[in-house]
Amino acid sequence: MDKQVVGILGGGQLGRMTIEAANRLNVTVAVLDSKGNPASELAATAPHVEGTFKSADKILALAQKVNVLTVEIEHVDCDALDKAAKEYNIPVHPSPETIRIIQDKCRQKVVLSEAGLPLPEFRDLAGGKEVEEIKAAAKSGFGYPIMLKSKTLAYDGRGNRVVKSESDVEDAVEALGGGKNAGGPPLYVEKMVPFTKELAVMVARGVNGEVASYPCVETVQKDNICHVVLAPAQIDGLVGKRAKEVAERAVKVLNGAGVFGVEMFLLENGDILLNEIAPRPHNSGHYTIEACHTSQFEQHLRCILGQPLGSTEMKVPASVMVNILGLGDGPEGMELTLRPCAVAMGLPGATVHLYGKKECRKGRKMGHVTVVGETMVEVLDRVKDILAVVPGSET
Ligand code: ATP
Ligand code: MG
Ligand code: MG
Repeated sequence: MDKQVVGILGGGQLGRMTIEAANRLNVTVAVLDSKGNPASELAATAPHVEGTFKSADKILALAQKVNVLTVEIEHVDCDALDKAAKEYNIPVHPSPETIRIIQDKCRQKVVLSEAGLPLPEFRDLAGGKEVEEIKAAAKSGFGYPIMLKSKTLAYDGRGNRVVKSESDVEDAVEALGGGKNAGGPPLYVEKMVPFTKELAVMVARGVNGEVASYPCVETVQKDNICHVVLAPAQIDGLVGKRAKEVAERAVKVLNGAGVFGVEMFLLENGDILLNEIAPRPHNSGHYTIEACHTSQFEQHLRCILGQPLGSTEMKVPASVMVNILGLGDGPEGMELTLRPCAVAMGLPGATVHLYGKKECRKGRKMGHVTVVGETMVEVLDRVKDILAVVPGSET
């Protein structure tokens, strides 16, 4: 393992935490991203490539230096990944075809629904007349509010708009770039899901197809961004088991090794619907660093390097992760943003992770805190002190 060089497209916090795990295992990680990214500075001697992970040339330049390629973000050039795999005879995990499917959220839903997975109702807006098509979808059973989504380049809810009524349709399309004919990203709609909770399961798959999934967790989003994760989810054990089954079935539809984050909705009647899959380590799996025998980042490395998968079990009874989201710009914003970390430093069972991002912006993921303890009641009691200094936290 210690002779291996892993190339990662993207040097954000996911790459950074993968490098933390890699350093412990003597695995070298080379990052492709712009200068000053959060990840590459943790591995000063690795053969990083500076530039964008959307450039085919840069991807090929990285491929030349590594034994295996992976991604920490799905918005990459998949044709270049295919070419890199062929030209340098190296594995790419997950497969470029998998990343291609995930990149287009509507195509992802088509593929998963054809495989029989339970999903919210959705409809492609392919006719180039999005405004009329949304109104028609609402009339034909989707109703209002209806969820309008960008098919591509979406993250942290930035490609989503809840359309409350027919009179809001035009503004929503406009806000997401105007639709296909206006040169914006392609759009599709989903029926609003009246979920009672959002759940997530990290599923790991090794190069020989062996699968290990982590406990089902509960995620709480604020303004569409993951805010808090409770592990394990506070749900009936049977529901957790079914969520794991749905997640494993979903990942089976896609090729390639690595960890996958599967987001799901839990309905009042106990049914589970799939929301989306991330083909990489995921925010809902950060808790695994302190709370599980094998973190999702180490697991990802084990998966793509052909090593045995590690235990996915929790080694503590309960944990809660709180994202540290940017609260404003500049030094003042940074000061305000980091307040919950200062509180966490004084709490038993709390571990602070900061991502080394130089600029603070509203909503930007700057770090996270994981609190572990003997019971969920105890952990939530500790977390209360952290959330008390996060404006707008009602949890
Ligand atoms: P991510 O950062 O997870 O990739 P994203 O930009 O791809 O986010 P989604 O996961 O599609 O966005 O949606 C973000 C959040 O919006 C979900 O976690 C959920 O809270 C809400 N949401 C999405 N789709 C629906 C839906 N059909 N009905 C109700 N709520 C939804
Ligand atoms: Mg997404
Ligand atoms: Mg999501």
